[in-house]
Amino acid sequence: MLAAAVSSTDGIRTRAKTALTRCGVDLAVFKGDAITARTPITGGDLFALRADGPEAVDRAVEAAQAAFHDWRTTPAPLRGALIKRFGELLGEHQQYLADLVTVEAGKIRSEALGEVQEMIDICDFAVGLSRQLYGRTMPSERPGHRLMETWHPLGVVGVISAFNFPVAVWAWNTAVALVCGDAVVWKPSELTPLTALACTALLDRAIAETGVPAGVHQLVLGAAEAGARLVDSPRVPLISATGSTRMGREVAPRVAARFGRSILELGGNNAAVVTPSADLDLTVNAAVFAAAGTAGQRCTTLRRLIVHESIADTVVERLVRAYGQLPIGDPFQDSTLVGPLVNEAAHTRMRESLDRAVAEGGTLCAGGERQLAEAAPDGYYVQPAIVRMPAQTAVVREETFAPILYVLTYRDLDEAIRLHNDVPQGLSSGIFTADQSEAERFLAADGADCGIVNVNIGTSGAEIGGAFGGEKETGGGRESGSDSWRAYMRRATNTVNYSGQVTLAQGVNFSQ
Ligand code: NAD
Repeated sequence: MLAAAVSSTDGIRTRAKTALTRCGVDLAVFKGDAITARTPITGGDLFALRADGPEAVDRAVEAAQAAFHDWRTTPAPLRGALIKRFGELLGEHQQYLADLVTVEAGKIRSEALGEVQEMIDICDFAVGLSRQLYGRTMPSERPGHRLMETWHPLGVVGVISAFNFPVAVWAWNTAVALVCGDAVVWKPSELTPLTALACTALLDRAIAETGVPAGVHQLVLGAAEAGARLVDSPRVPLISATGSTRMGREVAPRVAARFGRSILELGGNNAAVVTPSADLDLTVNAAVFAAAGTAGQRCTTLRRLIVHESIADTVVERLVRAYGQLPIGDPFQDSTLVGPLVNEAAHTRMRESLDRAVAEGGTLCAGGERQLAEAAPDGYYVQPAIVRMPAQTAVVREETFAPILYVLTYRDLDEAIRLHNDVPQGLSSGIFTADQSEAERFLAADGADCGIVNVNIGTSGAEIGGAFGGEKETGGGRESGSDSWRAYMRRATNTVNYSGQVTLAQGVNFSQ
């Protein structure tokens, strides 16, 4: 049993209603019987909402495409003005939006506020970007010619998002896509419709206040079918899809079949290597947050710890001690560090993975037990688990979206890197070491094969300034900072002849 009772479903519903109203959402407009907004805090139902059928998704795409025709010729710095205003509105409503993230995704307060902060940060980034959509000029091989690249808006971008980052990942895509001159149609997770309604209301307000074409952002509510309609729409040149590898496997070939582009942000199976020189205080602190934070429900959650055999017992002992002190419970309580799993299915998958890990030779060192919440039998609170594994068995090579940390041992760094890379996913990784040559080896071309490779930092908690994404079954997409914006634009190579003569490239002579 949890140490303290959790909030009541009625109390959570009232809190959600207040947050929605403050953000400008009229829930009556979205009433229906197709999706149920619920909270993992109690497992209770909050509101019954409508979903958008195929015709409604088509209409949203049409409206976005119509708005795109004006939006694409709006100067990029003026497009930035929309995102500047949107960022201000997010800041003014940060507490309410964070309330909704906690209500729907079960994130603890600081993480929910952090998620909204991430939206504000990407808006800042995108505003600056709106004056920096640079193309290159290259020397032409022909005299009197200029060769250059220009970047143009692409069209309608379909954004499909996952429950565990209900708003930040949408904002990474949307803030950047809008300054790039694209229009956006968003299909949020069916598990988190309320945060989507609130963000959309604030963006609609920013759109109205800045006089932007009204249709540049569209929201469609629904489950996989609504996303699939977007995926198959030939009028959506780019699909940015975040979710499980299973989803990516369905989406990627369908987009490719119509020669669309996709940005895929899929599952991870993130590992950190702990070498004998590592600062163990730092390592244990970082590992506990990365593995148990967000109840193990981050794409970047630390799932495997690959520890040098000489320090493995000490590291496990310290982790077990730290896990024993983790406050688990109502994410609205300031003292809570580990909130609930999203639903019963997530708990079932965690139980099944733990059973398989033991059957495959693992030893459960900590956690794994469900903790019942008083008066909330449908809330799934679990003690984060640590399992020592004799080898990287089948279950370890899969992503289980729950707080299970597998501990493996290694003898030399080559073996550690081999173990690290020997999984199908390639999102985030880290090495804990005080030895620079070990760190450099991990960062090198024959080191960790992930999209994110850290030194003395856990696998979770990326900053928006870098490009975010991963390799292999994680899908290869990049979003957020750095030059990720290029994926949202089309590139034109332009050659201008000001010589007054026809000169062909490669010295070809075609004169009569
Ligand atoms: P999920 O795959 O169940 O759903 C994600 C989204 O895809 C939802 O909006 C869902 O409705 C939609 N969807 C599902 N099938 C679809 C289909 N055939 N066509 C179109 N849309 C479809 O994922 P989830 O449970 O919401 O999220 C957890 C997963 O997401 C984990 O695997 C996690 O690692 C991954 N994730 C990855 C990143 C990343 O950046 N790499 C970020 C967050 C989450």
